[in-house]
Amino acid sequence: MARSTSPRNLSKKKPQTSLILLEEVGGKGRGVFAGRDISAHEEVLEFLGNIVDRSELDDLTHALQIGPREFLTSSGDVDDFVNHSCEPNCGIRNDDDRIVLFALKDIAKDDEITFDYSTTQTGGFWSMLCQCGSDKCRGMIGDFQDLPVGTKTFYTQQGAVLSYLVEEPAVKPSKVSSAEYKSGRRSRKKPIPARNC
Ligand SMILES: [Zn+2]
Repeated sequence: MARSTSPRNLSKKKPQTSLILLEEVGGKGRGVFAGRDISAHEEVLEFLGNIVDRSELDDLTHALQIGPREFLTSSGDVDDFVNHSCEPNCGIRNDDDRIVLFALKDIAKDDEITFDYSTTQTGGFWSMLCQCGSDKCRGMIGDFQDLPVGTKTFYTQQGAVLSYLVEEPAVKPSKVSSAEYKSGRRSRKKPIPARNC
C-alpha cells in the first residue's frame, strides 16, 4: 500500500500476528516481513481502516480499494506497508466482512510479504509504474481487468481477488451477426454498434 503513517503511531499499536515492520526495503520505502515461517493458505494479516467513498479521498496512494467506489483508509498498522509485487507470495480475499491477506505459498521467516495491488482495483482510479524487480514484472500496476488473462485466471483460481471484482457481471459480446440483424431474423430494441475485437 505504501500508505504512510508516522512511526510514532505504530509503536502504540500491537502488531498483528507475528509479522515485523522494517523501515527501509532497498529504496522501496518500508515493507512488511515474515517474523516466522508461514504456511501456504495461512492468514497473514487483516486490512484495517475506515471505509470511505472515492469522493472523500484526495490521495489514493494511501488507500486500498475494496469496492467499485469504496476504499479502506490507512490504519496505522502493518497492513499499511505491505508492498506490491507482480509475483507475490500473498493474496488478498474477503473473509465475511473482513479483508485479509493470506499466503499463496510457504513463506520463510524474514521474507518480504507482498501481494498484487491489481487484485483489488477497478475503475481506473489509480495506477503506478512498477519496479518490483520480479522476472514477471508487468511494468505497471493497474486495474484487475487489465491484467493478462492467465494472471487473472491464476488469482481467481487461488481465491486471491476481492469478491466484488470476481462477482462483477461480465459484459458478454453479442453472438448475433450483423447479417442476422439486417435480415430481421433477430431483433433488439437498440442496434449494437460494430466492434473490432
Ligand atoms: Zn512489478
